[in-house]
Amino acid sequence: MKRTITHLADGRELIYFDRRDDADRSAIDRRPLEPRPVASELRYDPLTEEWIAVAGHRQTRTFQPAGTAAECPLCPSSDTRSTEIPAYDYDVVVFENRFPSFSGNFGTYHEVGGLSQVRPGVGRCEVVCFTSEHSSSFSRLSDAQVGLVMEAWADRTAELSGIEGVEQVFVFENRGEEIGITLAHPHGQIYAYPYVTPRTRLQLGAAARHRGPGNLFADVLAAERATGTRVVAANELWTAFVPAAARWPFEVHIYPHRQVPDLAALSEAERAAFAPLYTSVLRAFDDLFGVVMPYISAWHQAPVRQDRELAYLHLELFSIRRAPGKLKYLAGSESAMGAFVNDVLPEEAARMLRSQVDH
Ligand SMILES: [Zn+2]
Repeated sequence: MKRTITHLADGRELIYFDRRDDADRSAIDRRPLEPRPVASELRYDPLTEEWIAVAGHRQTRTFQPAGTAAECPLCPSSDTRSTEIPAYDYDVVVFENRFPSFSGNFGTYHEVGGLSQVRPGVGRCEVVCFTSEHSSSFSRLSDAQVGLVMEAWADRTAELSGIEGVEQVFVFENRGEEIGITLAHPHGQIYAYPYVTPRTRLQLGAAARHRGPGNLFADVLAAERATGTRVVAANELWTAFVPAAARWPFEVHIYPHRQVPDLAALSEAERAAFAPLYTSVLRAFDDLFGVVMPYISAWHQAPVRQDRELAYLHLELFSIRRAPGKLKYLAGSESAMGAFVNDVLPEEAARMLRSQVDH
């Protein structure tokens, strides 16, 4: 693998991850770009003890309906069109988001009163293009291509963890128009947050209170493997299961059998074993109803500076589709109270997914 760091016209970093050592990465971004916007401000909610990123600049963001390759900013550039990627081809590429929620580019921030505090949204937001093929999807990537994406994820996790003020690195993919994705090109994102996120704090709090034979996450994995009814797929190094108390109609958690804090700590064998398992689960999602399954795929990694021995790297994948023409919307109970109601029995969801994986 060859890694090449370059810069876009407005100074953002762009990094090529190439399978071949002789890839030519000298192409220059010649677009006239506006200067980069400043970072969001973080405001503290004293009632929930959470930080909310308020990004005023995102309102001015130009809407780009880029369903087709002809107008896609994530396709390679050509003789007649300049995109976010100056090269005419690429394997995997990562670049800084043009309108980031978190960045190192600070403005001025004023106190706002109301028992809140304000601080700059230190951190970084990156876009990861999984392939140069516009009409592909993660589920259709080859094992070798998934391996290269994982090398990029591991590289970015290690690098972003080293930024001063960054407390957690979140690697994820939002997929499908129903999730609000306007760019059809296969891509994911990475957020480097200046705080530990609420869901991670909850899980690590539970892990700290757990009195079991082992680590909480390891005990959950062992129990799901022993129960078996919710296991969707497994190999020697990974298990995919629907959690007993799934929140979403179709939700699958994928754990490595060895406790590691983050993607950078996975062995080469673990990365290689993840690829076929994950893409088979994604294809099972799409085959369930014969229509594209909107999903969110979220890597849960250890915080950068705390509780690393308690945390356990795992992926939480879920869809909001519950039937061919039906989506699960977060309404009153979920949105207002955080109290989930799931219409699909987790054991039935596991059985449906398992029958697709077995095909
Ligand atoms: Zn594209």
